[in-house]
Amino acid sequence: MPPLREALLHYWGYDSFRPLQAEAMRAVVEHRDSVVVLPTGGGKSICFQAPAVTMPGLAVVVSPLISLMKDQVDALIECGIPAAGVNSSLPPRELLRVADRVRRGELKLLYVAPERLCTEKMLSFLDDANVSFFAIDEAHCISAWGHDFRPEYRMLKQLRARFPKAGVHAYTATATQQVRDDIIQQLGLRNAEQLVGSFDRANLIYRVVRKSDILKQVRQVIDSHAGESGIVYCISRREVDEIAEALSRAGYKAKPYHAGLSDHDRHKHQDEFLNDDIQIVVATVAFGMGIDKSDVRFVVHTGSPKSLEHYQQETGRAGRDSLDADCWLFWTVANFITWRKMLSDLPPDAFKQSDESLRSMERFCNGVVCRHKALVEHFGQSYPGTNCGACDVCLDQLELVADSKIIAQKILSCVVRLKESFGAGYVAQILTGSQEARIMDSGHDQISTYGLLKEHAKSHVQDWIEQLASQNYMKRVAVRSGDFQVLAVTPEGWQVLRGEVAPNLLRPAEKKGKAARGTRTETASTASWDGVDRGLFDVLRGVRRKLATERGVPPFIVFGDTTLRDLARQVPTTLEAFRHAHGVGDKKTAEYGDVFVETIRLYCAEHGLAADQGQGVESATAAPSPSNPRTNSRRAEAPIETKPVSTLVSKQIAFDMFQAGQSLPEVMAATNRAKSTVSEYLVEFIHEMEISNPEPWVDAATFARVMAAARIVGIEKLRPLFETLEENVTYDAIRIAVACLQHLPPEEAEAAMVEP
Ligand code: ADP
Ligand code: ZN
Repeated sequence: MPPLREALLHYWGYDSFRPLQAEAMRAVVEHRDSVVVLPTGGGKSICFQAPAVTMPGLAVVVSPLISLMKDQVDALIECGIPAAGVNSSLPPRELLRVADRVRRGELKLLYVAPERLCTEKMLSFLDDANVSFFAIDEAHCISAWGHDFRPEYRMLKQLRARFPKAGVHAYTATATQQVRDDIIQQLGLRNAEQLVGSFDRANLIYRVVRKSDILKQVRQVIDSHAGESGIVYCISRREVDEIAEALSRAGYKAKPYHAGLSDHDRHKHQDEFLNDDIQIVVATVAFGMGIDKSDVRFVVHTGSPKSLEHYQQETGRAGRDSLDADCWLFWTVANFITWRKMLSDLPPDAFKQSDESLRSMERFCNGVVCRHKALVEHFGQSYPGTNCGACDVCLDQLELVADSKIIAQKILSCVVRLKESFGAGYVAQILTGSQEARIMDSGHDQISTYGLLKEHAKSHVQDWIEQLASQNYMKRVAVRSGDFQVLAVTPEGWQVLRGEVAPNLLRPAEKKGKAARGTRTETASTASWDGVDRGLFDVLRGVRRKLATERGVPPFIVFGDTTLRDLARQVPTTLEAFRHAHGVGDKKTAEYGDVFVETIRLYCAEHGLAADQGQGVESATAAPSPSNPRTNSRRAEAPIETKPVSTLVSKQIAFDMFQAGQSLPEVMAATNRAKSTVSEYLVEFIHEMEISNPEPWVDAATFARVMAAARIVGIEKLRPLFETLEENVTYDAIRIAVACLQHLPPEEAEAAMVEP
């Protein structure tokens, strides 16, 4: 598929397909209807975006949420692909503009909400728009079996008949066959090709731990991810408020998110998170739908969710960029009691299903098998291999107890001796030989199992009781109005007592933090940092943030973390080398190459870092160290020969030249600085000297156009100006014009800003 492969490299800067992407794209270009199921972060969007670019005509993408639409359209535009979205938030003037662009055949992708798409007006408009295919994103919304049914998706069925020549393709991360069949039927797909990927999220590191001092536990996770984005999920709004508050007080940039906050606050906190203005969102399940921030590095649960589906979905928001991310689940038995209480109001049928889901979740928490394996098997797939190297079980934080069988027998026997009339806490006290008054008073210190496990910590014994219950050797029976539960031995438990079956029990490993057996390093924060210069990475993050703010898009739309890490690993100091970094396409090279390359050069000069570590790329400022070029300490051995003049000096030269009315290219040549840097100097110069006439740097006609656009969209953000100017005035010119605008005398500014 040469054209698709080329498109992938040219627009996105990716040099290979992820699993099933090639197959999914082929179905689109060969006009075969399809259903594509890939996990979150699996790369579904490119499956329809790349064919949209290579095929003639317009691809129509159905998307349920404005925020999702907006992020994807922004990301496409950043890559240089003409795309637009229509939704209820668009002013009529903008709608007309989009319609015009469709008529002129300028757009490759059009994003539409289902209810708008299915109006007769829209459909007849599209009749003449040369639609190449329809992509239905989040297609599970069409199925009542899914977790997110949206009735308006049902209207999409008419597409198949109305546009017989256009393919219809459905994309979802929801796994079950039932939902898949429903999608095919509800959309009326013809001989649909089904492509189902693995549900395993190999880059997520799962850890399931007993909750103790939750604030301390949460802070430890955050501290292992300094400055990186993360989500903390809580069961209740009250807990959200408490933890958000406590974290803020401790100096973390954290904000709450739950349905009890005003719309305004929720949007604000979400935007701050997307724009990296805050580091952490503390939230209930209400947070997440429509968040496709790619660089969420950790997700913490401060209590168990009510199903594995929820757990999978919420942890799924971490690591969408495929870099490692940590998922910590802190839980207690009390979580399940709380959930059961909430479920008890449900009608019997719904209760049964929810209770079943809760039990699966409980088994997972108490589980003794690899978390990746347990999750994948829950979703009906098999897991290859025996050690994932990315969960608490496989990373040796838990170990098998050697005498599991005997311990299990002691515990079960104690439950029997206590006539199945006591709860887990009491049983553990008896087994560990507690001398508490109520035990001495009841005479239970006299039974034969008293103190049988006194060499073990009570918390371990309690863990084992839970493990036995979750493996169905014991069950909980409610007494006294359901609030109190006692333990009882099941028939399977009796098999253990008779020595016919031997359960497995786990305990925390003696040696904490033992090195992983697999190829991974211990935590996500140290993994995939191979050869990355952390200092440079941080500097590049700053550049990304600045560019994003200017353009009014979230930073991850400018570049993902994968790209920044690759830049801080390869250290490119030429545009040619920059173009080779992961995730850098042609448009972004043209747009951002200068700024990044310039920053990297300065950084190399100031820190003595060897430049151009990428393979096959010629060095520009210093030779790569001949020995191991991919180690962390790659400080250049030899001093850099041509150290560029310092920033201060070059800025002074630039200011003097501006004063003399010299042009940007002249100043660039004299200072040996990139265009973006020089125009930044100029903006600074303009403000310092309060200049209101942009000539000779921006001609009068262009200045007038920028002023006219500023009347419509203001000057807070450059991006709307750029768009209003039909994308044919450069950002540099806009920036310079806007700076001058601010120094126009008041009466002139007023005249300019008021419509004639
Ligand atoms: P999904 O919609 O399946 O959750 P996305 O389409 O958002 O996933 O893709 C997740 C991330 O992976 C995005 O940052 C995307 O650019 C990146 N990606 C997709 N395909 C590739 C590829 N072939 N090579 C490298 N990165 C890719
Ligand atoms: Zn594992």
